Amino acid sequence: MDKFVTKRSEKKVNILHSKTEKHQQNIKTLKSSKSRQYNDCYLSIGFTWRDGSVGPLPLCIICGEQLSNSAMAPVKLKRHLITKHGQFAKKDVEFFKRLLKNKDKQTTKFQATVKVSDKTQEASFLVAELVAK
Ligand SMILES: [Zn+2]
Repeated sequence: MDKFVTKRSEKKVNILHSKTEKHQQNIKTLKSSKSRQYNDCYLSIGFTWRDGSVGPLPLCIICGEQLSNSAMAPVKLKRHLITKHGQFAKKDVEFFKRLLKNKDKQTTKFQATVKVSDKTQEASFLVAELVAK
């Protein structure tokens, strides 16, 4: 009698274990499929995108704020534009394209001025070593 009872309980455990594995697989597939994608028409709302670990992340062109992937919906992006940058709400796509181009130019110029050459850095380290000695 005891053997019969234990066998039955083991089967239940196995069934439960397989169900939880399936449930976890379903959650994984749901999470991976829920990643929202960037659409080019979001540029008219003032958003570009940056690559993130979960998926593309919306990036505000005006303030540079990076939102989560779940906020990659036209309604949420519009709400950001209207509530935070109301004065730009009625601007057209060309305005945001120009703004994005200018930001890219600024970034490259800044990187060029800030970057120290390798030889200069090596010389600095050598001088610091001599001073320390
Ligand atoms: Zn913004």
